[in-house]
Amino acid sequence: MHVTDDLDIGIIGGGPAGSTAASYLARAGLSVAVFESELFPREHVGESLVPATTPVLLDIGAMEKIEAAGFPKKYGAAWTAAGTQGVDPLDFRVEDHGLGVAQVLFNEREQLGVDRDHTFHVDRGEFDLILLKHAQSLGARVFTGARVREVDFADPDHPVLRVAIGPALTDIPVRMVVDASGRGTLLGRQLKVKVPDPVFNQYAVHSWFEGLDRRALAESRQQTDFIFIHFLPLADTWVWQIPITETITSVGVVTQRARFRAAKDDLEGFFWDSVASRPELERALRPTRRVRPFKAEGDYSYGMRQVAGDGMVMIGDAARFVDPIFSSGVSVAMNSARLACKDIIAAAAAGDYRAPRFDTYVNTLRRGVSNWYEFISIYYRLNILFTAFVQDPRYRIDVLKLLQGDVYDDAEPAALLAMREFVATVESDPTHLWHDRLGNLKVSPEAKCLF
Ligand SMILES: Cc1cc2nc3c(=O)[nH]c(=O)nc-3n(C[C@H](O)[C@H](O)[C@H](O)COP(=O)(O)OP(=O)(O)OC[C@H]3O[C@@H](n4cnc5c(N)ncnc54)[C@H](O)[C@@H]3O)c2cc1C
Repeated sequence: MHVTDDLDIGIIGGGPAGSTAASYLARAGLSVAVFESELFPREHVGESLVPATTPVLLDIGAMEKIEAAGFPKKYGAAWTAAGTQGVDPLDFRVEDHGLGVAQVLFNEREQLGVDRDHTFHVDRGEFDLILLKHAQSLGARVFTGARVREVDFADPDHPVLRVAIGPALTDIPVRMVVDASGRGTLLGRQLKVKVPDPVFNQYAVHSWFEGLDRRALAESRQQTDFIFIHFLPLADTWVWQIPITETITSVGVVTQRARFRAAKDDLEGFFWDSVASRPELERALRPTRRVRPFKAEGDYSYGMRQVAGDGMVMIGDAARFVDPIFSSGVSVAMNSARLACKDIIAAAAAGDYRAPRFDTYVNTLRRGVSNWYEFISIYYRLNILFTAFVQDPRYRIDVLKLLQGDVYDDAEPAALLAMREFVATVESDPTHLWHDRLGNLKVSPEAKCLF
């Protein structure tokens, strides 16, 4: 018998979404195989987790291995801006000393299923390898260097994966396919259901730096291992600062396509020009040693008209991607795997993998991602409002809930509604003190429907 004979589930991609799904499904006794095009470990962007990953890591039994890897612990997040003024029409306190704007600690709010006050910043090469090996230890078959070219759905009860392993092309029949191919979006492209986001069209240029003094822009010792988001005084542009090891820090500039286009042949020049707009950041970063080439990621917000069908579901970035400002990606990848697997395991028990079986997954995912999308949209439209809400005792815990990745409840967070109403007030009143702070990115109702 061949190792890929008689497979229940074929998973495309071995990132956090694919390996989490493989763990759940293998543990439930299904025969499952992961086909991953790269050889692991491989580099990957997306290094700062949110606490909503914790219940999933505990649930699949991988937490001990993640703890043993010694990734830096992430207790919170901080935002800085240059010269933020303390003018405040809502009577919020906005700092005016030039650096600190806001910070949150995850332990300020209890979160269901989260048993600790921190999450992690991770080297994704190592993190993704641990998760993939974990899935294997639970019984999933893992093929690396195996690229899925397409899926043949001619017989919806028996989809066939067409997999390139080296020069050979092999047809592998399964009962159902899970697309976890990340921004490769294999099925989204094949089925022509992928829709680019009409508003968010960001680019990022990033690298790792050895020797950054992470105290340089911190306001306290406690903050040094936080993720930092540094707002730049350039339209819709910000910098991430993520600890990777004691001495290595990941730093990336995120900006709008139009600004990036002018500089795309000179990533290094673009990076340093952007950073120079915050001289204190440039001063801290210049003396460091860059230990990886600069890398660009582009064109990265989209949704899908359909995320499940007969014999298939999409999870993680293969299902949608929203701007990474709040470090949501890995959490959505792992939670979408968790949610989808509940439906898949029930479908397997019923022997029926038709689309309606995955409705609960689809609806819950859409609700979670639309909360993220709304939050991110408001942030880009009026980011001073975000920092104000973080500091307002009426909304702080609700905003923190979003920042923890706790987004799948039925009810819309009250802070989102209040922010949306506030933005509408500022938009409709040209004399409002914050009117000239409105960003250029305005989300249309059609764009919201994507998620
Ligand atoms: C600039 C930027 C910054 C980000 N920052 C953060 C952050 O700080 N925190 C965070 O949580 N997220 C962040 N993200 C998002 C994060 O990177 C993703 O959401 C996350 O990696 C999604 O996991 P995934 O498993 O869905 O996809 P991936 O991690 O991309 O895994 C998909 C896998 O599928 C494989 N694959 C693709 N096509 C095929 C194929 N045809 N056949 C076989 N295998 C295939 C790929 O090789 C890959 O290993 C960021 C993203 C960007 C672009």
